[in-house]
Amino acid sequence: MFSQYLLLSVLGCLFLLQPQAQLQAQDNILDRVSVAQRSDGQGYVSRFHMSQPVDSFNVYQPSIDLIQMTLYSSKIDTTEINLPEQSQIYDEISFYDIPNGIGVDLYITKDKYFKSKAYHDANSDDLLLGLTTTNKIDLEYVTRDMEPLIWSRLTMNAESLLVDDTDAIPDNQLNSNSDYDKFKDKLKFDVVVIDPGHGGHDPGSIGYKNVKEKDIVLDIAKKVGGYIEEHLPNVKVIYTRDDDTFVGLKERGSIANKAEGDLFISLHCNSFSSRQPHGTEVYFLGLEKSETALEVMKRENRVVRADNDTEQKELTQEELLIYELANSGYIASSEHIAGMLEHQFDDRAQRRSRGVKQARFVVLYHASMPAVLVEAGFISNPSEARYLTSDYGQSIIASAIFRSIRNYKKKYEKSQHFNTK
Ligand SMILES: [Zn+2]
Repeated sequence: MFSQYLLLSVLGCLFLLQPQAQLQAQDNILDRVSVAQRSDGQGYVSRFHMSQPVDSFNVYQPSIDLIQMTLYSSKIDTTEINLPEQSQIYDEISFYDIPNGIGVDLYITKDKYFKSKAYHDANSDDLLLGLTTTNKIDLEYVTRDMEPLIWSRLTMNAESLLVDDTDAIPDNQLNSNSDYDKFKDKLKFDVVVIDPGHGGHDPGSIGYKNVKEKDIVLDIAKKVGGYIEEHLPNVKVIYTRDDDTFVGLKERGSIANKAEGDLFISLHCNSFSSRQPHGTEVYFLGLEKSETALEVMKRENRVVRADNDTEQKELTQEELLIYELANSGYIASSEHIAGMLEHQFDDRAQRRSRGVKQARFVVLYHASMPAVLVEAGFISNPSEARYLTSDYGQSIIASAIFRSIRNYKKKYEKSQHFNTK
Protein backbone atom coordinates (compact mmCIF):
# COMPACT_ATOMS: atom_id res chain seq x y z
CA MET A 1 0.00 0.00 0.00
CA PHE A 2 2.70 2.36 1.05
CA SER A 3 4.99 1.43 -1.78
CA GLN A 4 2.11 1.93 -4.18
CA TYR A 5 1.67 5.42 -2.91
CA LEU A 6 5.37 6.01 -3.30
CA LEU A 7 5.31 4.71 -6.84
CA LEU A 8 2.46 7.03 -7.70
CA SER A 9 4.15 10.04 -6.24
CA VAL A 10 7.29 9.17 -8.14
CA LEU A 11 5.35 8.81 -11.36
CA GLY A 12 3.77 12.16 -10.63
CA CYS A 13 7.23 13.49 -10.15
CA LEU A 14 8.39 12.01 -13.45
CA PHE A 15 5.47 13.70 -15.10
CA LEU A 16 6.56 16.97 -13.58
CA LEU A 17 10.09 16.37 -14.72
CA GLN A 18 9.16 16.60 -18.36
CA PRO A 19 6.10 18.78 -18.61
CA GLN A 20 7.05 20.04 -22.09
CA ALA A 21 7.34 16.55 -23.45
CA GLN A 22 3.87 15.69 -22.21
CA LEU A 23 2.22 18.81 -23.52
CA GLN A 24 3.66 18.77 -27.02
CA ALA A 25 0.96 18.04 -29.57
CA GLN A 26 3.37 16.81 -32.19
CA ASP A 27 6.36 14.65 -31.59
CA ASN A 28 9.50 15.11 -33.58
CA ILE A 29 9.96 11.77 -35.33
CA LEU A 30 13.44 10.50 -35.96
CA ASP A 31 12.71 7.66 -38.37
CA ARG A 32 16.05 6.94 -39.98
CA VAL A 33 19.78 7.36 -39.63
CA SER A 34 21.58 6.95 -42.92
CA VAL A 35 25.22 7.12 -43.96
CA ALA A 36 26.71 8.33 -47.23
CA GLN A 37 30.29 8.66 -48.36
CA ARG A 38 31.39 12.23 -48.86
CA SER A 39 31.98 13.31 -52.43
CA ASP A 40 35.42 14.68 -51.52
CA GLY A 41 36.47 11.25 -50.27
CA GLN A 42 37.44 12.72 -46.88
CA GLY A 43 34.91 10.74 -44.85
CA TYR A 44 31.18 10.32 -44.43
CA VAL A 45 28.01 12.23 -43.71
CA SER A 46 25.41 10.69 -41.46
CA ARG A 47 21.88 11.99 -41.82
CA PHE A 48 19.37 12.04 -38.97
CA HIS A 49 15.99 12.13 -40.71
CA MET A 50 13.76 14.32 -38.53
CA SER A 51 10.14 15.38 -39.00
CA GLN A 52 11.01 18.79 -37.49
CA PRO A 53 14.34 20.53 -37.05
CA VAL A 54 15.92 20.02 -33.63
CA ASP A 55 16.20 23.14 -31.49
CA SER A 56 19.79 22.58 -30.56
CA PHE A 57 22.42 19.87 -30.49
CA ASN A 58 25.84 19.00 -29.22
CA VAL A 59 28.52 16.57 -30.31
CA TYR A 60 31.05 15.13 -27.94
CA GLN A 61 33.76 12.63 -28.69
CA PRO A 62 35.05 11.05 -25.49
CA SER A 63 37.04 8.19 -27.05
CA ILE A 64 38.36 7.08 -30.41
CA ASP A 65 35.43 4.72 -31.02
CA LEU A 66 32.53 6.64 -29.46
CA ILE A 67 30.72 9.78 -30.60
CA GLN A 68 27.96 11.10 -28.35
CA MET A 69 25.29 13.54 -29.39
CA THR A 70 22.54 15.38 -27.61
CA LEU A 71 19.51 16.47 -29.61
CA TYR A 72 17.11 18.90 -27.97
CA SER A 73 13.62 19.25 -29.34
CA SER A 74 9.99 18.68 -28.49
CA LYS A 75 9.62 14.99 -27.66
CA ILE A 76 11.74 13.00 -30.07
CA ASP A 77 10.19 9.69 -31.07
CA THR A 78 12.68 7.00 -32.07
CA THR A 79 10.39 3.98 -31.74
CA GLU A 80 10.13 3.29 -35.49
CA ILE A 81 13.69 4.09 -36.34
CA ASN A 82 15.56 2.49 -39.23
CA LEU A 83 19.24 2.16 -38.60
CA PRO A 84 21.77 1.56 -41.34
CA GLU A 85 22.21 -2.15 -41.96
CA GLN A 86 25.79 -3.36 -42.19
CA SER A 87 27.04 0.17 -41.84
CA GLN A 88 30.59 0.73 -42.99
CA ILE A 89 31.25 2.97 -40.03
CA TYR A 90 28.92 2.22 -37.11
CA ASP A 91 29.01 -0.87 -34.93
CA GLU A 92 26.07 0.23 -32.87
CA ILE A 93 23.77 3.21 -32.39
CA SER A 94 21.75 3.64 -29.18
CA PHE A 95 19.26 6.24 -28.09
CA TYR A 96 18.49 7.46 -24.57
CA ASP A 97 15.71 9.71 -23.37
CA ILE A 98 17.03 12.71 -21.50
CA PRO A 99 15.17 15.77 -20.25
CA ASN A 100 14.03 17.79 -23.28
CA GLY A 101 15.63 15.53 -25.83
CA ILE A 102 17.64 12.42 -26.54
CA GLY A 103 21.19 11.27 -26.09
CA VAL A 104 22.79 9.22 -28.87
CA ASP A 105 25.77 6.89 -28.63
CA LEU A 106 27.44 6.10 -31.93
CA TYR A 107 30.02 3.34 -31.70
CA ILE A 108 32.50 3.58 -34.54
CA THR A 109 33.77 0.48 -36.34
CA LYS A 110 37.27 -0.70 -35.51
CA ASP A 111 40.08 0.93 -37.48
CA LYS A 112 37.95 3.91 -38.56
CA TYR A 113 38.91 7.28 -37.07
CA PHE A 114 36.80 10.38 -37.48
CA LYS A 115 36.63 13.95 -36.32
CA SER A 116 32.94 14.84 -36.01
CA LYS A 117 30.85 17.94 -36.50
CA ALA A 118 27.07 18.31 -36.60
CA TYR A 119 25.00 20.88 -38.42
CA HIS A 120 21.46 21.58 -39.60
CA ASP A 121 20.82 20.55 -43.20
CA ALA A 122 20.11 23.69 -45.20
CA ASN A 123 17.51 21.99 -47.40
CA SER A 124 15.52 19.87 -44.95
CA ASP A 125 14.67 19.40 -41.28
CA ASP A 126 17.44 16.83 -40.94
CA LEU A 127 20.48 17.01 -38.75
CA LEU A 128 23.76 16.07 -40.38
CA LEU A 129 26.81 14.59 -38.71
CA GLY A 130 29.95 15.18 -40.72
CA LEU A 131 32.68 12.60 -40.12
CA THR A 132 36.10 13.60 -41.38
CA THR A 133 38.72 10.90 -41.59
CA THR A 134 41.64 11.41 -39.28
CA ASN A 135 44.28 9.09 -37.84
CA LYS A 136 44.36 7.08 -34.64
CA ILE A 137 47.22 8.99 -33.02
CA ASP A 138 45.59 12.38 -33.44
CA LEU A 139 42.26 11.09 -32.22
CA GLU A 140 43.80 9.40 -29.20
CA TYR A 141 45.52 12.64 -28.39
CA VAL A 142 42.39 14.79 -28.50
CA THR A 143 40.21 12.30 -26.61
CA ARG A 144 42.68 11.59 -23.81
CA ASP A 145 41.34 12.24 -20.29
CA MET A 146 37.78 12.49 -21.59
CA GLU A 147 34.94 10.60 -19.95
CA PRO A 148 31.83 9.37 -21.79
CA LEU A 149 28.54 10.97 -20.79
CA ILE A 150 26.38 8.68 -18.68
CA TRP A 151 22.88 9.39 -19.95
CA SER A 152 21.11 7.68 -17.07
CA ARG A 153 22.64 10.20 -14.65
CA LEU A 154 20.31 12.82 -16.04
CA THR A 155 17.24 10.92 -14.85
CA MET A 156 18.85 8.78 -12.16
CA ASN A 157 17.33 10.59 -9.25
CA ALA A 158 13.81 9.61 -10.24
CA GLU A 159 14.84 6.05 -10.97
CA SER A 160 16.68 5.61 -7.71
CA LEU A 161 13.53 6.69 -5.92
CA LEU A 162 11.62 3.88 -7.60
CA VAL A 163 13.79 1.24 -6.00
CA ASP A 164 14.24 3.10 -2.76
CA ASP A 165 12.18 1.75 0.13
CA THR A 166 12.47 4.73 2.39
CA ASP A 167 8.98 5.40 3.63
CA ALA A 168 9.10 9.10 4.16
CA ILE A 169 10.46 11.32 1.47
CA PRO A 170 9.78 14.97 2.16
CA ASP A 171 8.09 16.79 -0.69
CA ASN A 172 10.89 19.24 -1.10
CA GLN A 173 13.32 16.41 -1.70
CA LEU A 174 11.19 15.08 -4.50
CA ASN A 175 10.99 18.38 -6.25
CA SER A 176 14.30 20.02 -5.65
CA ASN A 177 17.93 19.02 -5.93
CA SER A 178 17.18 16.40 -8.53
CA ASP A 179 19.72 15.95 -11.26
CA TYR A 180 17.13 17.25 -13.64
CA ASP A 181 16.84 20.49 -11.72
CA LYS A 182 20.58 20.88 -11.80
CA PHE A 183 20.54 20.04 -15.48
CA LYS A 184 17.75 22.51 -16.08
CA ASP A 185 19.66 25.14 -14.14
CA LYS A 186 22.57 24.60 -16.45
CA LEU A 187 20.29 25.10 -19.44
CA LYS A 188 19.01 28.41 -18.18
CA PHE A 189 20.54 31.51 -19.66
CA ASP A 190 21.40 33.38 -16.49
CA VAL A 191 25.10 34.29 -16.44
CA VAL A 192 26.82 36.61 -18.91
CA VAL A 193 30.58 37.07 -18.65
CA ILE A 194 31.90 40.40 -19.89
CA ASP A 195 35.60 40.52 -20.57
CA PRO A 196 37.15 43.96 -21.06
CA GLY A 197 40.47 43.23 -22.78
CA HIS A 198 43.91 44.17 -21.46
CA GLY A 199 44.22 46.28 -18.28
CA GLY A 200 46.88 47.34 -15.78
CA HIS A 201 50.33 47.40 -17.34
CA ASP A 202 48.84 46.12 -20.62
CA PRO A 203 47.18 49.13 -22.30
CA GLY A 204 46.18 47.24 -25.44
CA SER A 205 46.27 49.41 -28.53
CA ILE A 206 47.16 53.08 -28.19
CA GLY A 207 45.11 55.20 -30.53
CA TYR A 208 44.71 58.73 -31.82
CA LYS A 209 45.64 61.31 -29.17
CA ASN A 210 46.94 58.47 -27.00
CA VAL A 211 43.56 57.00 -26.11
CA LYS A 212 44.02 53.56 -24.60
CA GLU A 213 42.07 50.47 -25.59
CA LYS A 214 42.00 49.20 -21.99
CA ASP A 215 40.10 52.29 -20.78
CA ILE A 216 37.53 52.34 -23.57
CA VAL A 217 36.65 48.66 -23.29
CA LEU A 218 36.25 48.90 -19.52
CA ASP A 219 33.81 51.80 -19.92
CA ILE A 220 31.80 49.92 -22.55
CA ALA A 221 31.83 46.73 -20.45
CA LYS A 222 30.33 48.57 -17.47
CA LYS A 223 27.64 50.09 -19.64
CA VAL A 224 26.70 46.67 -21.06
CA GLY A 225 26.62 45.22 -17.54
CA GLY A 226 24.49 48.12 -16.35
CA TYR A 227 21.92 47.57 -19.11
CA ILE A 228 21.74 43.87 -18.30
CA GLU A 229 21.26 44.52 -14.60
CA GLU A 230 18.56 47.05 -15.35
CA HIS A 231 16.60 45.19 -18.04
CA LEU A 232 17.36 41.50 -17.42
CA PRO A 233 17.27 41.22 -13.63
CA ASN A 234 17.49 37.42 -13.70
CA VAL A 235 20.80 37.48 -15.51
CA LYS A 236 23.94 37.74 -13.45
CA VAL A 237 26.81 39.80 -14.84
CA ILE A 238 30.37 38.67 -14.22
CA TYR A 239 33.30 40.88 -15.19
CA THR A 240 36.73 39.38 -15.74
CA ARG A 241 38.00 42.75 -14.53
CA ASP A 242 36.04 45.75 -13.29
CA ASP A 243 38.95 48.10 -12.78
CA ASP A 244 42.31 48.88 -14.32
CA THR A 245 44.05 45.65 -13.34
CA PHE A 246 45.86 43.10 -15.42
CA VAL A 247 44.22 39.68 -15.92
CA GLY A 248 45.87 36.91 -17.99
CA LEU A 249 44.09 35.34 -20.94
CA LYS A 250 43.75 31.91 -19.36
CA GLU A 251 42.55 33.39 -16.08
CA ARG A 252 39.77 35.23 -17.91
CA GLY A 253 38.51 31.89 -19.20
CA SER A 254 38.76 30.35 -15.72
CA ILE A 255 36.71 33.17 -14.23
CA ALA A 256 34.04 32.57 -16.88
CA ASN A 257 34.03 28.79 -16.39
CA LYS A 258 33.89 29.05 -12.61
CA ALA A 259 30.87 31.34 -12.90
CA GLU A 260 29.26 28.78 -15.26
CA GLY A 261 28.70 31.51 -17.81
CA ASP A 262 26.23 31.04 -20.62
CA LEU A 263 27.92 33.58 -22.85
CA PHE A 264 31.36 35.15 -22.94
CA ILE A 265 31.89 38.50 -24.61
CA SER A 266 35.41 39.83 -24.91
CA LEU A 267 35.64 43.55 -25.69
CA HIS A 268 38.47 45.12 -27.66
CA CYS A 269 39.35 48.00 -29.95
CA ASN A 270 41.19 47.75 -33.22
CA SER A 271 44.08 49.85 -34.42
CA PHE A 272 46.03 50.13 -37.63
CA SER A 273 49.15 51.84 -38.90
CA SER A 274 47.11 54.16 -41.12
CA ARG A 275 44.23 56.32 -39.92
CA GLN A 276 41.88 55.19 -42.66
CA PRO A 277 40.34 51.90 -41.48
CA HIS A 278 37.26 52.10 -39.29
CA GLY A 279 34.29 49.95 -38.28
CA THR A 280 33.36 47.07 -36.01
CA GLU A 281 34.32 43.42 -36.26
CA VAL A 282 32.99 40.38 -34.44
CA TYR A 283 35.03 37.20 -34.07
CA PHE A 284 34.44 33.68 -32.89
CA LEU A 285 36.88 30.85 -32.45
CA GLY A 286 37.98 29.01 -35.56
CA LEU A 287 40.58 28.83 -38.26
CA GLU A 288 41.34 32.32 -39.49
CA LYS A 289 40.53 32.82 -43.12
CA SER A 290 41.84 36.28 -43.87
CA GLU A 291 45.05 38.22 -43.42
CA THR A 292 43.35 40.90 -41.34
CA ALA A 293 41.87 38.29 -39.00
CA LEU A 294 45.39 36.96 -38.56
CA GLU A 295 46.67 40.43 -37.65
CA VAL A 296 43.92 41.01 -35.09
CA MET A 297 44.44 37.55 -33.65
CA LYS A 298 48.17 38.14 -33.21
CA ARG A 299 47.56 41.43 -31.47
CA GLU A 300 44.88 40.17 -29.10
CA ASN A 301 46.84 37.04 -28.20
CA ARG A 302 49.79 39.18 -27.24
CA VAL A 303 50.02 39.93 -23.57
CA VAL A 304 52.26 42.62 -22.10
CA ARG A 305 54.12 41.23 -19.15
CA ALA A 306 54.93 43.16 -16.01
CA ASP A 307 58.43 43.93 -17.28
CA ASN A 308 56.88 45.51 -20.39
CA ASP A 309 58.01 42.63 -22.54
CA THR A 310 55.36 41.08 -24.72
CA GLU A 311 54.41 37.47 -24.58
CA GLN A 312 52.82 35.82 -27.55
CA LYS A 313 50.73 32.77 -26.89
CA GLU A 314 49.86 30.86 -30.02
CA LEU A 315 46.93 28.53 -30.16
CA THR A 316 48.07 25.46 -32.04
CA GLN A 317 46.01 23.67 -34.67
CA GLU A 318 45.85 20.77 -32.27
CA GLU A 319 44.41 22.84 -29.44
CA LEU A 320 41.83 24.21 -31.84
CA LEU A 321 40.94 20.70 -32.95
CA ILE A 322 40.42 19.66 -29.32
CA TYR A 323 38.14 22.61 -28.77
CA GLU A 324 36.16 21.88 -31.91
CA LEU A 325 35.72 18.24 -30.94
CA ALA A 326 34.52 19.03 -27.47
CA ASN A 327 32.57 22.20 -28.19
CA SER A 328 31.09 22.11 -31.66
CA GLY A 329 27.73 23.16 -30.22
CA TYR A 330 29.35 26.20 -28.61
CA ILE A 331 31.02 27.15 -31.86
CA ALA A 332 27.68 27.04 -33.66
CA SER A 333 26.14 29.23 -30.92
CA SER A 334 29.11 31.59 -31.01
CA GLU A 335 28.68 32.06 -34.73
CA HIS A 336 24.99 32.69 -34.13
CA ILE A 337 25.50 35.46 -31.58
CA ALA A 338 28.35 36.90 -33.65
CA GLY A 339 25.84 37.32 -36.48
CA MET A 340 23.38 39.01 -34.13
CA LEU A 341 26.05 41.43 -32.91
CA GLU A 342 27.05 42.26 -36.45
CA HIS A 343 23.45 43.00 -37.35
CA GLN A 344 23.08 45.28 -34.32
CA PHE A 345 26.27 47.22 -35.09
CA ASP A 346 25.46 47.57 -38.74
CA ASP A 347 21.73 48.12 -38.72
CA ARG A 348 20.86 49.59 -35.35
CA ALA A 349 24.05 51.33 -34.24
CA GLN A 350 24.81 52.53 -37.79
CA ARG A 351 28.45 51.60 -37.57
CA ARG A 352 30.41 50.37 -40.52
CA SER A 353 30.44 46.63 -39.93
CA ARG A 354 33.47 44.81 -41.22
CA GLY A 355 31.72 41.52 -40.64
CA VAL A 356 31.89 38.28 -38.69
CA LYS A 357 35.23 36.51 -38.78
CA GLN A 358 36.97 33.53 -37.28
CA ALA A 359 40.35 33.50 -35.59
CA ARG A 360 42.28 31.52 -33.00
CA PHE A 361 41.88 33.70 -29.95
CA VAL A 362 43.41 32.28 -26.79
CA VAL A 363 40.91 34.04 -24.54
CA LEU A 364 37.95 32.45 -26.38
CA TYR A 365 39.62 29.06 -26.31
CA HIS A 366 39.74 29.02 -22.52
CA ALA A 367 36.04 29.80 -22.07
CA SER A 368 33.91 26.64 -22.27
CA MET A 369 30.75 28.36 -23.47
CA PRO A 370 29.59 30.28 -26.52
CA ALA A 371 32.19 33.01 -26.82
CA VAL A 372 32.76 35.99 -29.08
CA LEU A 373 35.29 38.79 -29.34
CA VAL A 374 34.11 42.25 -30.33
CA GLU A 375 36.40 44.84 -31.90
CA ALA A 376 34.31 47.92 -31.20
CA GLY A 377 36.13 50.16 -33.66
CA PHE A 378 39.52 51.55 -34.73
CA ILE A 379 41.01 53.91 -32.19
CA SER A 380 43.68 54.71 -34.80
CA ASN A 381 40.95 56.46 -36.78
CA PRO A 382 40.47 60.00 -35.35
CA SER A 383 36.70 60.17 -35.66
CA GLU A 384 36.20 56.65 -34.35
CA ALA A 385 38.59 57.35 -31.45
CA ARG A 386 36.47 60.37 -30.56
CA TYR A 387 33.28 58.34 -30.86
CA LEU A 388 34.60 55.49 -28.71
CA THR A 389 35.83 57.81 -25.97
CA SER A 390 32.54 59.73 -25.84
CA ASP A 391 29.76 58.74 -23.48
CA TYR A 392 27.36 58.86 -26.41
CA GLY A 393 29.40 56.51 -28.63
CA GLN A 394 30.06 54.10 -25.80
CA SER A 395 26.35 53.99 -24.97
CA ILE A 396 25.42 53.21 -28.58
CA ILE A 397 27.97 50.40 -28.81
CA ALA A 398 27.00 49.04 -25.38
CA SER A 399 23.28 49.07 -26.16
CA ALA A 400 23.91 47.26 -29.46
CA ILE A 401 25.77 44.58 -27.51
CA PHE A 402 23.03 44.48 -24.89
CA ARG A 403 20.29 44.03 -27.50
CA SER A 404 22.21 41.14 -29.05
CA ILE A 405 22.52 39.47 -25.65
CA ARG A 406 18.81 39.96 -24.98
CA ASN A 407 17.80 38.57 -28.38
CA TYR A 408 20.18 35.66 -28.03
CA LYS A 409 18.78 34.86 -24.58
CA LYS A 410 15.26 34.88 -26.01
CA LYS A 411 16.17 32.52 -28.84
CA TYR A 412 18.22 30.34 -26.55
CA GLU A 413 15.47 29.89 -24.01
CA LYS A 414 12.91 29.26 -26.70
CA SER A 415 15.09 26.47 -28.04
CA GLN A 416 15.46 25.01 -24.55
CA HIS A 417 11.69 25.19 -23.95
CA PHE A 418 11.83 27.68 -21.16
CA ASN A 419 9.14 30.17 -20.62
CA THR A 420 10.73 33.44 -21.57
CA LYS A 421 8.09 35.64 -19.99
ZN1 LIG B 1 42.59 44.13 -27.52
